[in-house]
Amino acid sequence: MSAKLIDKKKIPPGKALNLIEGLTSYLHFLSDMGCTGFNCSKESLKIVESLSTNNETLDGIESEIKNCTLCGLSLKRTNIIFGTGNHKARLIFIGGAPDENDDKNGTPFTGAPGDLLTNIIKSIKLTRADLYLCTLVKCFPHGGKKPTPKEIKTCLPFLKRQIKAVKPEFICTLGETAAQTLLNTGEPLSMLRGRFHDYNGIKLIPTYHPSHLLKNPVDKRPVWEDMKKLIKEYNMDQY
Ligand code: SF4
Repeated sequence: MSAKLIDKKKIPPGKALNLIEGLTSYLHFLSDMGCTGFNCSKESLKIVESLSTNNETLDGIESEIKNCTLCGLSLKRTNIIFGTGNHKARLIFIGGAPDENDDKNGTPFTGAPGDLLTNIIKSIKLTRADLYLCTLVKCFPHGGKKPTPKEIKTCLPFLKRQIKAVKPEFICTLGETAAQTLLNTGEPLSMLRGRFHDYNGIKLIPTYHPSHLLKNPVDKRPVWEDMKKLIKEYNMDQY
């Protein structure tokens, strides 16, 4: 969009940049969803407008996802596990996929892994209500399987929109799949954890998933080290 056009249409340059950013983000979203053409219907343009002003809310995204059948994980799910917690959280915890208990309860991080996560959160003097908790894919992969790359790719645009809506300063990924997906890398978690990475201007620290800790208690120590780094930065950035 040229400066002349911006002037002619009387669009303030700042708003024009927001519009372009929103449009780019929406086109990426459509591309991620497998679309090859642009739909200029009123509904699509309304979505572009909401993205350009970055006004999308978690409730809006949740209402859009509630009957989602975009991937095979929809076939056996009981509930879509969208996310829970503070919609304006400074910190989001992101796991890989809901488990069987989550699927029954309709909320992420329940059962024994959820209890352990609650204790980890308490250990850094925060509560679940301070944070936002969600997963890469929103439906439970049956048979203890990991979500496939295709399922992750299909669901990922929803997570990206959740992150944009919450606008956190920090993300803590739990488990290898969440870290590798958001950081777009094949590096093992053992190499990724223990330090901050940049995710679109947000400080992202990967650590082990509580389910992993239940089977490998020896890894509680590195998680504690990661949490100490995280809370130090979290408290520093508050002032
Ligand atoms: S995992 Fe995500 S993309 Fe697949 S059906 Fe569930 S909500 Fe839709």
